[in-house]
Amino acid sequence: MRISHSAMETFKQCPHKYKLNQIDKIVEPKSEEAIFGSYLHYILQWFFENDHRKISLKDLLSFFEKHWLEIKYFDIKNQKEKTLNNFYFDEGLMMLKNFYQKNGHKDVTILSLENPFEISLNDSNNQVHIVSGIIDRIQKSQDRYEIMDYKTGKRLPTQNKVNQNSQLSIYALAFLDQWPNINIKDLDLSLYFLKFGEIIKTKRTVEDLIETKSKILKTIKDIQKEKVFAPKPNNLCDWCGYKNICPVFKHYQPKNSIEKDETNIKHLMDKYFDLHQKRKNIEKEIDNIKSKVDNYLVAKNLYQLESDQGCFQLNDLEDCAYEWKKIKDILKPLGKWTQLIKIDQTEFKKIMREIPEDIRNQINNCKIVKNKTKIVTAIHKSENSIFKNGDINKNIQNRIYDDFTDI
Ligand code: SF4
Repeated sequence: MRISHSAMETFKQCPHKYKLNQIDKIVEPKSEEAIFGSYLHYILQWFFENDHRKISLKDLLSFFEKHWLEIKYFDIKNQKEKTLNNFYFDEGLMMLKNFYQKNGHKDVTILSLENPFEISLNDSNNQVHIVSGIIDRIQKSQDRYEIMDYKTGKRLPTQNKVNQNSQLSIYALAFLDQWPNINIKDLDLSLYFLKFGEIIKTKRTVEDLIETKSKILKTIKDIQKEKVFAPKPNNLCDWCGYKNICPVFKHYQPKNSIEKDETNIKHLMDKYFDLHQKRKNIEKEIDNIKSKVDNYLVAKNLYQLESDQGCFQLNDLEDCAYEWKKIKDILKPLGKWTQLIKIDQTEFKKIMREIPEDIRNQINNCKIVKNKTKIVTAIHKSENSIFKNGDINKNIQNRIYDDFTDI
């Protein structure tokens, strides 16, 4: 199994959310807060990539402003794309000013930014699992290494919570996987809370990492065993991008969402008929042009005429008839005659309409319905209507498609 820390956390928070995201692959619309967080990560990545010691505060803030209006998020309540609230703009400027003051001229060596990693773990059945993720920043100053993860949330956790943070434990595992000769004692794990300008540091021991591995394998096992993936309402539901389709919140879904869906579909239907009509007109025009060229070739007795894009050819077509009785005598001894006979559905339907009802019933009793299927038929108002004189045309409503070939 391939899994990330956030997918494991999602499973623990709500198995149904995990299913929608990881199994059904329904993309979760990101909240305004999450989009804002990603944007700040992007700004800070740029800051360090371009040597933070040479970038002025003015440059940092103008880079932030330059791309601000390109940032959009999907407002689930109103079902439309929006730019982020101005509140986040002010908040971002404040965070970056604060960040710059503390880090602008700091003498650190950046080892990696937005570093993707994969750790393989073997479970008790010798099945290999991959844990993947991305570390915001890894740096070195003097003899110490530091893993840094930025947080833009509104809460500052306690030191105790950070000491137990599983994300940092996985990052430590990934770090030692990539640099196995570095001693874990020389590694600091930090969460940088941008809103508060606070860094909370922690460390891990070798024993901690052994425990982390077994916790990951336990979660993977739980996911593999899970059959139901039931929704588990929790205090983060208000920020869940799937709330609109979650069975728990069915009754809270926007009243007009169904109407909106239907309006969209009706719009598509009209577009379909529109395009269909255009196709018919184009086909008519093609036929028209073709027949003019055909007539020209025949009139001039030309066997081929080329233009820049292709050519038309005049070929002789034989209209033949066969003496089927003689062919029957030839093919029957070879066992090929029955292969040649196919029931003509159009002819069969015509006969069915012409014969008396009792015989039609006898034939209907010979019918084997191999399968029934539902079909959708598009009928343009101008051509036909399933409503005739106020009645529904049952022939259209209850179609059963017969397959005659194997009877
Ligand atoms: S809204 Fe809550 S219960 Fe529903 S899927 Fe999201 S997290 Fe789970």
